Amino acid sequence: KQINNSLKIERQLYFALRNNEISLYYQGQVSEEKNIIGCEVLVRWYNEDLGFVSPMEFIPIAEKTGIIIELGHYILEEAFKTLQLWEEQNIHLEQFSVNISIQQLLNKNFVNDVEDLCHRYLNDHTRKKIIFEITETLLAENIDKVIRVIRHIKELDIRFSMDDFGTGYSSLSYLREMPIDELKIDRSFVSRLGETDSDEKMITTIFTLAKIFDLKVVAEGVETGEQFRFLLEHDCHIFQGYYFAKPMNRSDFEVHLLRNKKKNPLLY
Ligand code: C2E
Ligand code: CA
Ligand code: CA
Repeated sequence: KQINNSLKIERQLYFALRNNEISLYYQGQVSEEKNIIGCEVLVRWYNEDLGFVSPMEFIPIAEKTGIIIELGHYILEEAFKTLQLWEEQNIHLEQFSVNISIQQLLNKNFVNDVEDLCHRYLNDHTRKKIIFEITETLLAENIDKVIRVIRHIKELDIRFSMDDFGTGYSSLSYLREMPIDELKIDRSFVSRLGETDSDEKMITTIFTLAKIFDLKVVAEGVETGEQFRFLLEHDCHIFQGYYFAKPMNRSDFEVHLLRNKKKNPLLY
């Protein structure tokens, strides 16, 4: 049944883009004062037969089949359009994060495509807000190639974040070599805070590393006030999770932003 379903997903995924089944959601990222300072773009797929399919399920299939190239390009273009639109509407976030698959990043057209999309939708100022989130898990084999591509993209002023940090093959030398600007602490560590000593130690170590390498830290999957307070005490800069807000479609997120702005008129 499992295999059947994944074949079904694979088949339907080919038509998903053409049938307009793919959309983007946005989850706020907040400062210590709980002001929304950025967001992460998260893809959503609704199919008539399959219902909502989780990206945790279909992204790996898209990667395996190569559909991720076309899908990733679409996500990037829609995301850039949103950022452009918000700037026109005077909604000025500090940062705007998009997930990028390693397969997509290593595709021979990636650098060109990003350059092209930047010229079409962004200016010198808005480009600086973009952060590409990549995961460390698959990185090890192609590390030199990955670093070369990142350097290229960084010439456009786009920054990089290491997603799911702490779960993969990260090592110290790895951190030193990767030209990244931000770490995202994996939500598995955040969710277990208060349960085990070792997760606290893990998080404390990540903050120490971040300081040494001069990286910003985003904590994701913050669900409770206790987790938020623990992270605050450890000098965390940026927070993301259901405790603040769930991912929303664009119009809901815009309402959410405006409500936040009313409370803090100096924002954006
Ligand atoms: P991720 O990049 O680690 O994204 C964070 C996931 O955690 C999102 O799930 C988000 O909805 C969820 N989340 C946020 N706050 C909380 C919380 O407080 N508690 C819990 N339990 N979960 C929280 P989502 O949207 O289902 O995405 C799952 C994964 O799919 C992402 O993990 C990412 O690896 C991948 N993905 C999502 N969108 C894209 C995309 O546009 N491109 C690529 N390549 N991958 C994507
Ligand atoms: Ca992410
Ligand atoms: Ca993550």
